[in-house]
Amino acid sequence: MDPLFDLVTGLPFDELDDWDADDFSDQSASGSWPDPTDLLQRLTRGVDCLTHVERVVRRTGRPVEWPKWVPRELRATLRAHGVRRPWSHQAAAADLAHSGRHVVVSTGTASGKSLAYYLPVLSALGADQRATALYLAPSKALAADQLRAVGAIAPADVRPAVFDGDTPWEEREWVRSFARLVLTNPDMVHHGMLPRHATWATFLRRLRYVVIDECHTYRGVFGSHVAHVIRRLRRVCERYGSSPVFLLASATVGDPAGTASRLVGLDVTAVTDDGSPRGGVTFALWEPPFMMTGGVQNLGSETFDGDDSFDAIGQSRIRVSTLRQTADVLADAVANGARTLAFVRSRRGAEVVASMTRRALDEAVPDLADRVAAYRAGYLREDRRRLEQDLLTGELLGLASTNALELGVDLVGVDAVVLSGYPGTLASLWQQAGRAGRGARDALCVLIARDDPLDTYLVHHPEALFGRPVEATVLDPSNPYVLGPHLCCAATESPLTDADLPLFGDGAAEILDRLVADGLLRRRPTGWYWTGDGRPEIDLRGSGGASISIVEQSTGRLLGTVDGGSAHAHVHTGAVHLHQGESYVVDALDLDDCVALVHAEEPDWSTHARDVTSLTVESVRHVVDAGPVGMFFGTVDVTNQVVSYQRRRIATGEVIDTRPLDLPARRLKTTAVWWTISPQALADAGIDPADVPGALHAAEHAAIGLLPLVATCDRWDIGGLSTALHADTDAPTVFVYDGHPGGAGFAERAYHVAAEWLRATREAISSCGCEHGCPSCVHSPKCGNGNEPLSKADAVRVLDAVLDALRSAERRASAAGGAKLAMLSATS
Ligand SMILES: [Zn+2]
Ligand SMILES: [Zn+2]
Repeated sequence: MDPLFDLVTGLPFDELDDWDADDFSDQSASGSWPDPTDLLQRLTRGVDCLTHVERVVRRTGRPVEWPKWVPRELRATLRAHGVRRPWSHQAAAADLAHSGRHVVVSTGTASGKSLAYYLPVLSALGADQRATALYLAPSKALAADQLRAVGAIAPADVRPAVFDGDTPWEEREWVRSFARLVLTNPDMVHHGMLPRHATWATFLRRLRYVVIDECHTYRGVFGSHVAHVIRRLRRVCERYGSSPVFLLASATVGDPAGTASRLVGLDVTAVTDDGSPRGGVTFALWEPPFMMTGGVQNLGSETFDGDDSFDAIGQSRIRVSTLRQTADVLADAVANGARTLAFVRSRRGAEVVASMTRRALDEAVPDLADRVAAYRAGYLREDRRRLEQDLLTGELLGLASTNALELGVDLVGVDAVVLSGYPGTLASLWQQAGRAGRGARDALCVLIARDDPLDTYLVHHPEALFGRPVEATVLDPSNPYVLGPHLCCAATESPLTDADLPLFGDGAAEILDRLVADGLLRRRPTGWYWTGDGRPEIDLRGSGGASISIVEQSTGRLLGTVDGGSAHAHVHTGAVHLHQGESYVVDALDLDDCVALVHAEEPDWSTHARDVTSLTVESVRHVVDAGPVGMFFGTVDVTNQVVSYQRRRIATGEVIDTRPLDLPARRLKTTAVWWTISPQALADAGIDPADVPGALHAAEHAAIGLLPLVATCDRWDIGGLSTALHADTDAPTVFVYDGHPGGAGFAERAYHVAAEWLRATREAISSCGCEHGCPSCVHSPKCGNGNEPLSKADAVRVLDAVLDALRSAERRASAAGGAKLAMLSATS
């Protein structure tokens, strides 16, 4: 989202004040605007596929008076840009920040979050000619966009400037000396600003505000790194005598105050009541119908989306592929005269949808086939802008695109948006849906479920999409693998003292002892000192383990990288690897040189790695004793070895062969959530002892698939293990662990909302219409055991037994007058 756009559209234009449902004046030149309800009826003709239709009603904006402290000149400038008065949430957040409170504003796309932080920042810089402010964006591109936006409204003597890796050295000196608003990113604060903080002394001494934009992007291990960069920044500021106010902006997420507080290590107040206007949307949830295997020999090539699973093939009933369904809906919408944008997850998928749509139209309405195109990364910027323009003018009627972030800011106002699968987070869902609709006219948005447990759950539980946001951004600054290196960095910036320890959290003292024992730090009476010459190396965006480069053997071209953690499973010798939608076969994986040599090839089989995993429990941090069930959170040691891979025919799913692999075992020390259940409780639930492994395994798969519902991760960030008897727990056990050294906070979040998470898991399995399990419920695309054994019906029984036990434990706890179990607080 271009910030200028955000700033402007989030504000009450005169026209917007007068929005009215009866106002047809913004009707496009092409004439008729398809009524969404009517259009939806035509799209679904004869197919039983809608699980829910939600009318997201139009919201009128709530403008309020300017806060008294906003200088007259700034108001005048904003008025000149069409801003008459701020929306209520902008004024509320600005007021809090002005009064010295740390604040996070968490409201919808294009709600004008930037004005919320520019009001206090520009007012302060205007009132004090020496004051400074820092703006952090997750990417260089966003900071550059912000410069354009703020440049238009900032007083001349603020001299806003970008400071990032591309800033020429000769310019950096100027930025340090003269810019009073510096726009940068966390990487640059870590690599460029903190190590040379003495050269920034004047700027830091006068620092009044730190703006952290798009703060929901700081999640998982990356988020934990950024949390410590911010703590180091706060510590250095304190040395120079300043204590800036933090102003954060986030997409709508669960618990914004909690996440923001964790990110900056301070108490942050959330402003979430969105006062900006919004057009109405008719939102349809669509589940592709089942069909028989006989007629879909081409299904394989159509589901050639890295995210789709092939495991369904060979089952008795399978669903129409998501890409096929997307193409059908797109073709029908175009045939009905609706300008439609379809979002597809992979580049290859976007091409496939566009060509299937053209083929479908070719038969029905031949002259429309040319008015559908694909849109993806890799096209030149000008070409992409032209495609957008053509869609806006109606020259093009259908566009199949990869993801929203690549799109230009002007592309708002199509008649319908089709989402080919849940885009992963509610924030992206609303961002993509937000492309639909012009002015006061309602638009249509259709979400087509993919064949996986999360999508299936969502189309059957609209309250998870349209109710309060359930997913919270998760990060874990206490991860010792993250905290240790940052303590070393902090020590190079200025010796660490006892007074610094609370800033870095409970585990800091213990980790310092270890760093001293390892010879990295030295303890002296005045504090801890870094012993090395240079600085400790930290890759803020790395996920642990050396990443593997994917190189095309014939040309030496670097295609990309995969992180070390998943390399064995994805780019082993012989693997068919999809990179940005293109297909490659791996000739050799060289672990010593961290390189996978590949050649472009599109064989008619796919490859599936098989692995063996073992796990030992290192320590238990939290536990709930629920009688026959135990719920745990703690540290585990996972050993995983990829041992072979299967080649499967794409069209039929038939296994061609299984080939051995010679790869070393790998160890991962991380955090996990696990539950145990007694054999007696399993028997009472009616599960035959022989079916226990399949019951636990199926429950584990579905639980991993549903974890993104409660934490912003995807299923590839987490792993699992289930066993009918585990040596460390002495009971049937299901483990779900973070796939990053030291953990990323996902398993911890799962523990705290265990009841909510497992109830959703149970619902996802039981509401699936398949007989014996499918990718929509208990199959996993990443199962190292070929999805065997799995028992769908018994998984529901296991989860019922676990949930019952947790509920009774809560009742007992409250009857005994004890504190309500925190993790069960969401049960009622
Ligand atoms: Zn199923
Ligand atoms: Zn499995």
